[in-house]
Amino acid sequence: MSTIFDKIISREIAADIVYEDQLILAFKDIAPKAPVHYLIIPKQPIATLNDTTLEHQALLGHMMLTAAQLAKEAGIAQGGYRVQMNCNADGGQVVYHIHLHMMGGRAFSA
Ligand code: 5GP
Repeated sequence: MSTIFDKIISREIAADIVYEDQLILAFKDIAPKAPVHYLIIPKQPIATLNDTTLEHQALLGHMMLTAAQLAKEAGIAQGGYRVQMNCNADGGQVVYHIHLHMMGGRAFSA
């Protein structure tokens, strides 16, 4: 099923893109929960973390390493940041195309 993120990948919908390569795309969240709030997504449409297999291991690692690199580039790595992936309804997932939230620039409590 196609999602809004497919339209961002194909440039049908504009987004503030901060990183792109053959496998992934990273862009600013439209409703940021922190001064820095990026979404890191694979270009292939995987609906939820439940749909990943060993085949996606390198891709998921690449997403995590890119989150860390983008945090460094945004100047928030030392202070700290949060990386989060929501899965399904109880996890708070709204867009069914896996994505990592990378958020920082403020302190999180729990
Ligand atoms: P989820 O709750 O699925 O983990 O997070 C989805 C995220 O996508 C939300 O933080 C929401 O603000 C963001 N989002 C939804 N639609 C768009 C959009 O069209 N553009 C951008 N940049 N972010 C979006």
